[in-house]
Amino acid sequence: MTDLSNPANWNPATALVHGGTLRSPFGETSEALYLTQGFVYDSAESAEARFKGDEEGFIYSRYANPTVHMFEQRMCVLEGAEDARATASGMAAVASAIGCQVKTGDHIVAAKALFGSCRWVIETLMPAYGIECTLVDGKDLDAWKRAVRPETRVFFLESPTNPTLELCDIAAIADLAHESGAKLVVDNVFATPLQQKPLALGADIVVYSATKHIDGQGRCLGGIVLSDKAWIEESLHDYFRHTGPSLSPFNAWVLLKGLETLPVRVRQQTATAQKLCRYLASHPKVTRAIYPGDASHPQADLANRQMSGGSTLLAFEVEGGKAAAFAFENALRIVRISNNLGDAKSLVTHPATTTHKNLSAEDQIELGISPGLLRLSVGLEHEDDLIADLDQALAATG
Ligand SMILES: *Cc1c(COP(=O)(O)O)cnc(C)c1O
Repeated sequence: MTDLSNPANWNPATALVHGGTLRSPFGETSEALYLTQGFVYDSAESAEARFKGDEEGFIYSRYANPTVHMFEQRMCVLEGAEDARATASGMAAVASAIGCQVKTGDHIVAAKALFGSCRWVIETLMPAYGIECTLVDGKDLDAWKRAVRPETRVFFLESPTNPTLELCDIAAIADLAHESGAKLVVDNVFATPLQQKPLALGADIVVYSATKHIDGQGRCLGGIVLSDKAWIEESLHDYFRHTGPSLSPFNAWVLLKGLETLPVRVRQQTATAQKLCRYLASHPKVTRAIYPGDASHPQADLANRQMSGGSTLLAFEVEGGKAAAFAFENALRIVRISNNLGDAKSLVTHPATTTHKNLSAEDQIELGISPGLLRLSVGLEHEDDLIADLDQALAATG
């Protein structure tokens, strides 16, 4: 018999409805929204004890807040993490997770294929503080190994990558990081916490933009950093308190409600993505269809090993370059043009001219971002309508 008194034994669908819930004396069903900056103390002695850490309780919402705490705890149960700090955006999570553990003279190794702002943090912001970085082809284990220096402190990667959905071997890269005394930080947005468990694969820290699938309905920004208690306590705790990337209680409340439906949404969106990939792969105007959940993916074996689903995103290349890609986007009736992802609404983006426009032409080519490449974030619409939409838009590419 499963011991249900321990939330760690719950299935994700259960943990995402009940995990971390704190009820006020009113016994509300839905999570309470504690829209408060601060907290009052019964006595001067109590305030003193709380500041000393001798008494449990909240002090100030930049440090912690009951609604935000519920979101953090629910994410911990899902991720199998000991502790977490929720942040105002995904970028606040990434910048804090990296910034809190490096100092001048340290070195970072990161995969080249990164979300644009993550790449800016690694390539531009960190060097401004005297922290050097080496960008490598994330698929090439020897490149990670060669990049290591005695002062390497952090490895950073995203898998699947944005926008070409290549995979990094998390377990193997975690081993390399640990051999060099570095910590591996994984940005797990594209896989979602349901389809890939970086901590179980050996990563030390996981970050999310909760803006994406965790909200899942395009409403608010949010992020989270998850790890073991010791790292949060020793590396992140003070940095987080004193720099203030904290999540608003209102957004935490929205994200808590998003978590309740995450498994249902991701399951449906993944099933539709699989079907759209098959449809696109067989279309004469599509020169390449990339989906980690399809046997045609160049790293299908690795996908099977480290992911339990193929993600809700796919990428494909239309014949005719930028003009055809733009004609396709402009002809869509249901799918909307947006750089966002993980939404209930299907969204398409042309990476070369939007999310990845800051990369040089050579960097774009190296990452497979060709002029005809499009990224599709699959939503909750009916698959027949989506296929009909893609079909009429492909016909419009000439
Ligand atoms: C969106 C995204 C981010 C940044 O998240 P924000 O919530 O927009 O700050 C970071 N990494 C990846 C992979 C993303 O998709």
